[in-house]
Amino acid sequence: MKKIIIANWKCNPTTLKEAQKMFLGLKTGIKNNKAEAVVCPPFVYLQEAKRILGASSFARSKASFGGLALGSQNCFWENSGAFTGEVSPKMLKDLGIKYVILGHSERRIIMDESTEQVNKKIKAALKAGLIPVVCFGELLEEKQQGKSFTSIEKELKEMIGKVSKEDIAKIIFAYEPDWAISSNEGLFCSPDDALTMALYIKKLVGEIYGKKAKENIKVLYGGNVTSSNTSSYLENPAIDGLLVGGASLNTKEFLSIIHTI
Ligand code: PEP
Repeated sequence: MKKIIIANWKCNPTTLKEAQKMFLGLKTGIKNNKAEAVVCPPFVYLQEAKRILGASSFARSKASFGGLALGSQNCFWENSGAFTGEVSPKMLKDLGIKYVILGHSERRIIMDESTEQVNKKIKAALKAGLIPVVCFGELLEEKQQGKSFTSIEKELKEMIGKVSKEDIAKIIFAYEPDWAISSNEGLFCSPDDALTMALYIKKLVGEIYGKKAKENIKVLYGGNVTSSNTSSYLENPAIDGLLVGGASLNTKEFLSIIHTI
């Protein structure tokens, strides 16, 4: 199974010109399609990404740019209506977007997004045919109090509540300990600890949805990933890929992460 490497550009860059340069750099620099590489720029650059990277050929491994897919960093839970400022799953699907990051700790902490809201978004994204990349991870204080496992279990159960057995394997889970995200504490989560959590997440999903779901779901790791630690996280087959924030803003560095595989 292909490893999945996702670039989360967050609220960057600040100009279209810079974004164009980054898309072009990715398009010309990508050399292989051994990984499913995904870029998640801000909404306003998605259309331009589509134009530069090759219209509807996203994510097709035969495409000349080597299988680069597009994702968004959020979506709403309704498809249309009086919801000022929101972008709907249907709009994203219509644009040719394949993935949507949901439940990122920055949205849940800074924007106060609740696990209940994330759950609604996951279900709406699935319904629209998008692949949700669901992020969760414990806070530093939870880790210090030995509550990492209980915190993960609570978040996971609340966020995937009422997702059907059929849909569960479509979700990509991303273990992102809040303290290891470079914009926060930026501490280092060891590959062994990331692996322990990936296995724990698979076990939890297995307990709820059965053995097949446990075997089929994908769990990524995210938090301070760079080209120098990529291989150590991906060494074990139980970690199915990486979610990359800061390092993905440097095109060369992101390409080097992809090309590690
Ligand atoms: C993230 O915010 O999803 C992330 C993983 O960030 P970073 O790689 O910068 O730690």
